[in-house]
Amino acid sequence: MKSDTSKQLFDRGMKVLVEGCSSASRGPMNYAPYPAYIREGKGARLWDVDDNEYIDWQLSFGCLPLGHAHPAIVDIVQEKVMGGTHFATALEVEVEAAELIVEMLPHVDKVRFANTGTEACMTGVRMARGITGKRKVLKFEGHYHGWYDGLLVSTNPQAVTTLGHPNDPVRIPDSSGLTPGSLEDTLVCVWNDADALERMLKTHGHEIACVVMEGAMSNMGVIPPKPGYLKQVQEMCRAYDVLFYLDETVTGFRVAPGGAAELYDLQPDIVTFGKALGQGFPVAAIAGPDHIMESIEYGKVLHYGSHNAPRLGLYAAKTMLEEMRRDNNAGWTKINAIGEEMTTRLNQVARDTGQNMRVQNVGSMFHPVFTDLDEITGYRDFCGHVNLAKYGEFSKLMREQGVFFTGNKILHNLSCTAHTQADIDRTIEAAGNALEQMSRV
Ligand code: PMP
Repeated sequence: MKSDTSKQLFDRGMKVLVEGCSSASRGPMNYAPYPAYIREGKGARLWDVDDNEYIDWQLSFGCLPLGHAHPAIVDIVQEKVMGGTHFATALEVEVEAAELIVEMLPHVDKVRFANTGTEACMTGVRMARGITGKRKVLKFEGHYHGWYDGLLVSTNPQAVTTLGHPNDPVRIPDSSGLTPGSLEDTLVCVWNDADALERMLKTHGHEIACVVMEGAMSNMGVIPPKPGYLKQVQEMCRAYDVLFYLDETVTGFRVAPGGAAELYDLQPDIVTFGKALGQGFPVAAIAGPDHIMESIEYGKVLHYGSHNAPRLGLYAAKTMLEEMRRDNNAGWTKINAIGEEMTTRLNQVARDTGQNMRVQNVGSMFHPVFTDLDEITGYRDFCGHVNLAKYGEFSKLMREQGVFFTGNKILHNLSCTAHTQADIDRTIEAAGNALEQMSRV
């Protein structure tokens, strides 16, 4: 596979950009010795600057349920861009997109649009504090909610030296530059363990504003909740007078039309969206019932932003939802079926080649990990039993065969409506080749 042009761009980029790009996740840490610089995408395909073609399973970290350059998205954006890009005023499309979301989500009365998952989560936490007057937030090991100081704790298995007792996990700062206050106000609990949460709430419930979690872990490969666990969490939150905050930045509009809340039958107090919602544009949202959302009225809990409710992004979001909802939500039926097939067949290839690769999924989100365990149920399994370097090697061998599996070793891969049966078959064949090659070494 040729990569001369990417190499040249990387050399130039290293002089003017940190790590030659704009996120550690995209640079040489995950794509050694240098990343492929991507030129364009269409459907489920990517092309890099050296004309290499890939089947894309990274899909902008989950931002593209319809794949790249979907005709309906291209049409609406081309039409609307002629009328201007951004006004920072109230918009018709803002009302229309919110109406659609409220119609789709029974637990939501009102929506506030933002740009990124990080901002949405920062606002969600501030709302929880503003509403309850309580100071602490309880999050879970291995759950990532963006790079806001107050939630950037215990998210990175690569930084772990000690986990501490499961009843009192060590809070591991995931960045330098966090204040001691960020750590003090952020309690960390083990996930998928209702007793552990109950213990924490018993001791700290009076000072906890909200329990925040991903509906399914998606930043530690893919780890589904145990049956009934999320309902138990919700009940415990109600019992201890703590807000239940479901961060659906990844799962929202992806695992089901109503996200993880629909899949697991939940009524969260606060919910945040991002990624899939914008269909590639930066659109995020904070949402919830009226009595929660009124906390941000007139800046009581402050949420501002020059780029909030980006006009083109909202046209894309509305169009994506309309497309996915066609024929009784056929978009979600399709991406979830592809996710299931990928999971089953990748697991079969692993067995056939004798490799200890396991694939877990929730609908369209799936991820291979190399492990001695039959199942990964949480962060501690992931930290202690997953060989990240092997996934790095596997994903590189996939990309070398024209199949773009994410190089980010702790994230996940995803399907979109543009993936075809031929794409799946080619990917499975490539996985067989990659695993066989790994067995020979
Ligand atoms: N919450 C979750 C669950 C996420 O996975 C992410 C991003 N991976 C975020 C929040 C932050 O979103 P963004 O990257 O758009 O800031």
